[in-house]
Amino acid sequence: MLAPVLDALNEAGLRSDQAALLCDVELGLRLHERLNPAEAVGAAWVLFCGIPYARGRGLVTRDEAAIVLHSARFSLWTLRRRTTWHDALATYQALDKRVRAFDVLSPDTRIVRLPTEGIADDRFTQYDQLLAAAPPFKGSPATFARQGWHQFQAGRATIRVDLPDTAHLARPAGHDIHLLPPGNGDPIPVNWDELIDTAKDMDAIEPHDWARRMRSVRLRTRGKSTFREKREFTVAGIQHLLGIVGAGKSTLRDVLTVHLARQGGRITVVVGDVAETLELVRLYNLYTGGKAAPILGASGKERHAQRMHRRLAGRGEANVLAHKDPGFSYLGTSCVLNTLLSDQDDVLAFNQAPCTRLHRRTVRPDARRKWSTVPVTCPYWVGCPRYRGAHELVQATIWVSTPAGLVDAAIPHPQNAEKIRYLEAACRRSDLVIIDEADRVQMQLDRMFAPAVTLVGGSDSRSLLDDLVGHKTRELFEGARTQLSDHDVEVWTAAVNTITTTTDRLYAMLVADRDLREWVRTGYFSAWTLQLRLIEERYPDDATDVEEPRRDLTDLLDEFRDNPFGDRAGKVTPELTALVNEVLTTGRQPATRRKLTDFLVELFDLSRF
Ligand code: SF4
Repeated sequence: MLAPVLDALNEAGLRSDQAALLCDVELGLRLHERLNPAEAVGAAWVLFCGIPYARGRGLVTRDEAAIVLHSARFSLWTLRRRTTWHDALATYQALDKRVRAFDVLSPDTRIVRLPTEGIADDRFTQYDQLLAAAPPFKGSPATFARQGWHQFQAGRATIRVDLPDTAHLARPAGHDIHLLPPGNGDPIPVNWDELIDTAKDMDAIEPHDWARRMRSVRLRTRGKSTFREKREFTVAGIQHLLGIVGAGKSTLRDVLTVHLARQGGRITVVVGDVAETLELVRLYNLYTGGKAAPILGASGKERHAQRMHRRLAGRGEANVLAHKDPGFSYLGTSCVLNTLLSDQDDVLAFNQAPCTRLHRRTVRPDARRKWSTVPVTCPYWVGCPRYRGAHELVQATIWVSTPAGLVDAAIPHPQNAEKIRYLEAACRRSDLVIIDEADRVQMQLDRMFAPAVTLVGGSDSRSLLDDLVGHKTRELFEGARTQLSDHDVEVWTAAVNTITTTTDRLYAMLVADRDLREWVRTGYFSAWTLQLRLIEERYPDDATDVEEPRRDLTDLLDEFRDNPFGDRAGKVTPELTALVNEVLTTGRQPATRRKLTDFLVELFDLSRF
């Protein structure tokens, strides 16, 4: 969307990375100018850091402001930390004044505009357009393999197939990702008697005692001061349905889903496991004339099929070939390409099917490579039984999924160029999303999105830092360190090295000194928590005449924490910075320890003790 601005900046002499940074910073400053101009520019990061600061400060007075904040958060998430934003401001200010639209003399100053002098003069129109709506989806459509030789990797083997002419095969239908809910997201009124009529219809098609079960359900909705039984209720926003086991929650879920689907609504139902997903799809299809489809991740299909076979075997049918369950039709594992393999090739394992990674043999005689490096999609994708669920989801108005399927699975690239997960698609298109066992799903989502990980641990537990360092070393080795030509990679690598050195020093102290371990106690600590404890021990709250030295010490240590190596904009603490560099790199520890002790005695005014 900012391509014209970037082009103009490139023409003015900026490198691509400088132009991209300039646009990011100016977008952040433009947001700040619109929503919070009375504050200093150094505080702009709070608007896109994810904390609802703008709402708390009453800056979101109109819907437009809420959209602007959402868009900015999407575009500026890499600058969401205070130090990153301040570093970006400093880099921005160092760029030629001719190309900048703002003057940022210091993060503590308010916004100051500069004339743009013929370089991307309309940039603010582009920034405002970017902030006014969600950014468009990116992506280019899949290319399908044509007649001729193709190769793909299957484990260590390279397999070649000669594809026949498949030009007559249709291309898969894609999702309209801009589809809105038919009810426009408005509250959904529900009449209990109509639900019972739907339940009777369902019993007429395949009896499951729906009507009797619905009549026995007692639904009480929230009134002004208490919960009351009502024949009519409205589903609006997020609502919880509570009830003991057997109260009829699942019955209501199914009848309501069928009822709304028959009225043209779009519903997404999230349940606990794949077996229940497939059974609900069967039932919903029976009662709605085929409006339901499951969302299943591609990778787990083989495992789910095996589980279903085991379950049927457990019910007494030992012969796998006699296992019949409509759910198997969504768990297909066969691959047509097996029929095209040569006699020397083994049958493809489930995960070896080259659905989107076939490489065509180049036909041009002067081509540098014999095989194209660009992967193409299997021409049989459109009719492949492995993707039955994905095909049916395009037309289905009831989507049924597990939480993992919804979050992990994406709309396949052969269907849609846009990269979009089913979770996002479901949120955009559904009138109603019903989540069964919401507490369990919440736990699953917490595990997926907010996992607790050990930063540095012993040999018995995984450690994020050790994983990171191992990954970094492997990648740099495999890439012959060419990645370091990228400035961001170089900065990130240096940061990981510094963290590793610091961690080793801290661990060495903790491992060697029992008193120190006990003082730190178990759990986690940070520079901030250690600073608080040190200051509290030196200048306790109940001591007299400590306010001024405590404030001075706090200010100094705050400045040091914000800029420990003195390489960022803002205040520096040269003595502490020199000392920390020496502590991290010294090979003469006794001398450094003496120097550090003397310094700390002076800093904490301990000479009297
Ligand atoms: S799309 Fe189907 S036929 Fe084609 S490679 Fe994948 S599994 Fe095989």
